[in-house]
Amino acid sequence: MDLKRTFIDLMPAPFVRFVAAPYVAGKSLAVEVAKVDQLQKDYGLHSTVDLLGEEVFKREDVEATVAIYLRIIEAVKDRPYASISLKPTQLGMNESEDYAHANLRQVVAAAAVHGIHITVDMEDHTFTDATLRIFKKLRDEFDNVGIVLQSRLFRTAEDIRNLHAKPCKVRICIGIYREPAEVALQEKPDMKAKLFEYVGLLLDLGHYPEIATHDEPLVRRCLAYLEQRGVPQGAFEFQMLLGVPRTALQREIVKKGHVMRLYVPFAEEWQYAIHYLKRRLAANPMMAMYVLKNLFSR
Ligand SMILES: Cc1cc2nc3c(=O)[nH]c(=O)nc-3n(C[C@H](O)[C@H](O)[C@H](O)COP(=O)(O)OP(=O)(O)OC[C@H]3O[C@@H](n4cnc5c(N)ncnc54)[C@H](O)[C@@H]3O)c2cc1C
Repeated sequence: MDLKRTFIDLMPAPFVRFVAAPYVAGKSLAVEVAKVDQLQKDYGLHSTVDLLGEEVFKREDVEATVAIYLRIIEAVKDRPYASISLKPTQLGMNESEDYAHANLRQVVAAAAVHGIHITVDMEDHTFTDATLRIFKKLRDEFDNVGIVLQSRLFRTAEDIRNLHAKPCKVRICIGIYREPAEVALQEKPDMKAKLFEYVGLLLDLGHYPEIATHDEPLVRRCLAYLEQRGVPQGAFEFQMLLGVPRTALQREIVKKGHVMRLYVPFAEEWQYAIHYLKRRLAANPMMAMYVLKNLFSR
């Protein structure tokens, strides 16, 4: 039995919300947009807006989620520093791939009208094939859609090679989901070595890597590599999560003229958000420690 997982599952929702507070913009779209504006104005940061939650099962909930994403598009449409991220299981993947594709298509098409970029987040490995098929269909039709790939999965080099003939924006991260040894690396240093390797492979194939990590030495290794390779600004970006204390590093990246984008989630329904937040805690129990430390050192 996984004791840590059981402990986190039993945590009362208010405690989860307390621990997660620094990582969430707030509980309304207006608060979210104000945060996105403030990050740009005060620090020159870009944002990707995400509605907290995953694993939506009922059609009415999926439709409500689509409606919220259409509202997000309206809310950020005049903000070139804002993109949007979403998860296929929020948009009907549990019912069928076709249904998820239809819902994602609706959102991507609405965003395309305003030139807003949509990133399709990657969930656990049981969804990888279907998510990539949906992404490729969307990329056939639209320029404003990108995908996430996880360096821990053995399949990722092949997935990069088979991604699409057209250039794609690809968020490359180690992946948050604990995956079995049959399909994925188990040690973080190995995942990070692969992340670095895949930045090079994505560039070789003409794609735009979105390097998503908080690991400072890895960020610095990527920066040195990009500089040495002479990759022009605007051909890549860095991404981190709101709330992870990396202010100095983020400022340095912005000062160099690169795009530094934060993942800025907000919650409309805490019931959906709690599951996501518990998963982040399970992946990184230190989150609770960081929050308490920040609280007491203020
Ligand atoms: C913008 C963005 C989008 C992402 N999208 C996806 C996705 O679609 N699918 C997916 O599977 N995964 C996604 N991830 C998660 C990612 O795969 C990793 O799980 C996560 O970024 C942690 O890995 P790391 O490379 O930062 O390394 P880690 O070794 O986990 O972290 C490096 C250091 O960063 C600090 N740190 C990390 N997390 C926290 C935290 N929560 N609080 C405080 N400090 C922390 C710690 O000091 C830690 O030692 C995303 C991550 C980012 C930044």
